[in-house]
Amino acid sequence: MLYNVLQYLEKTEKRLSDKTAFTDGETGLTFRELGESARAIGSVLAEEISVRKPVIVLMEKTADCIAAFLGAVYAGCFYVPLDSKMPVDRMQLIIDTLQPAALIYDEKNEKTLDKLQLNCGQFRYDQLVKGKVQADRLEKIRNQAVDTDLLYVLFTSGSTGVPKGVSICHRSMLDFTESSCEPLYLDENTRFGNQVPFYFDMSTMEIYTTLKMGSSTYIIPRKCFLFPKLMIEYLEKYEINTAFWVPYAFLQLSNAQVLDAERLRALKYIYFCGEVMPCKHMNRYRRVLQDAVYCNLYGPTEITNVCSYYMVDREYRDDESLPIGIPFPNTRIFIVKDDNTEAKPGEVGEILIGGSCLSLGYYNNKEVSARSFVQNPLHDNFRDMVYRTGDLGTFNEKGELLFFGRKDYQIKHQGYRIELGEIETAVSSIEEIKNTCCLHDEDGDYIICCYIGDITNRDILLRLKEKVPSYMLPDKFMQKEVFPQTLTGKIDRKELRKEYEAHKNQEKTK
Ligand code: AMP
Repeated sequence: MLYNVLQYLEKTEKRLSDKTAFTDGETGLTFRELGESARAIGSVLAEEISVRKPVIVLMEKTADCIAAFLGAVYAGCFYVPLDSKMPVDRMQLIIDTLQPAALIYDEKNEKTLDKLQLNCGQFRYDQLVKGKVQADRLEKIRNQAVDTDLLYVLFTSGSTGVPKGVSICHRSMLDFTESSCEPLYLDENTRFGNQVPFYFDMSTMEIYTTLKMGSSTYIIPRKCFLFPKLMIEYLEKYEINTAFWVPYAFLQLSNAQVLDAERLRALKYIYFCGEVMPCKHMNRYRRVLQDAVYCNLYGPTEITNVCSYYMVDREYRDDESLPIGIPFPNTRIFIVKDDNTEAKPGEVGEILIGGSCLSLGYYNNKEVSARSFVQNPLHDNFRDMVYRTGDLGTFNEKGELLFFGRKDYQIKHQGYRIELGEIETAVSSIEEIKNTCCLHDEDGDYIICCYIGDITNRDILLRLKEKVPSYMLPDKFMQKEVFPQTLTGKIDRKELRKEYEAHKNQEKTK
């Protein structure tokens, strides 16, 4: 019976011991090396700390980092990735929430420790990994494990400014991995080109598919995302066939016009997730990489990874929106209206999700957990927990889920109910626009269109008039060179908002 993710590793380790599991192309670990390292780490940790405790991993994004994660799991604990690029205050808030039992760090992050207040054992990776494997101890720990034990906690930004630790147990990760590999064509031949940080939920698809299927994950160096030509070189050199990235990362290549069918012959699976993928950019990929499979995936961290997928099976105009598709097996997605009754197909409401994929809640935060993880509002006959996503959606006549933006991006403007996402879709379909994000200023009831691209505001308006009703036309524009990004690579709307406010105040004082 499958009840612990380490079973994936142990099975694959026997089958494909010398195959590369995780690498940046130059340094990496085979499945055997990964298993041995993780067991050594687990053995030392188990001597020092008790089971079911949080272990922070503060390391560079390398194969060793994965060994540290799995080492914590061998010790019967759960891991929490931190990144030294996170602001120190945020790291401290996370530490305070967790009260970790141990922290694993590497040489490069050693200095960061001086800035943190820690009350736990601190272990340097290169020493930990030299530990002696204690098979008996590890076996004992495993024999006591259950699949509802936590596997990891990932921190997402909370609206109050306090990060929320999404707690995921083994069962949820096993459920996701078992249900996603087949529909997404993930197998032993999969070669992921990893983009997202390990503290972002999307990376868990790469990690656990690799362990289960014996795939390989190539951790793409950061500089490739800054220099599109380097990225093409990397993808070509390592014959990456699967890119599961946020749209922003795909846009870097399509905007730089470096897509090249000859050089990207291996790239067969183009999977996007995390925010809306503008069709204009997907179409640029489709024109060049004609044989690739394109898939729009959707899901919040709270349901483990993604819960729905849409395999692009028809042509889309640049100004259309892609569906977010159908649920993965063993996942329930339904739409609830404001009065807590189920929406009929075509009716828009909040997207609710249920199933084994559901997180066990926010770590050490019962109050916020109780607001988001709730009893299914459609009945009260037995305990049936669901996650309220705060996203708006509807099912179309084909049974595909359509995404209408966040509940909080729905605005009332001149009395009309408007989804800012709809305006963004129209703006991003304009040829010269490289990226866009719309805001609403409640003070004066203005719609602000922030954009990157070589085009005048007047021309944007003229083209938009052909696409959206007049009440949806932006009142103000803000042209930008770059957009602020969140740590996970999405557009940072809160930061953009601050920039707009600062700009507005400057105008006032002129
Ligand atoms: P995160 O928890 O960081 O993965 O963010 C999840 C949120 O990102 C969802 O609740 C959506 O608002 C948004 N999101 C994720 N995938 C998509 C997608 N394919 N299209 C549009 N929005 C998405």
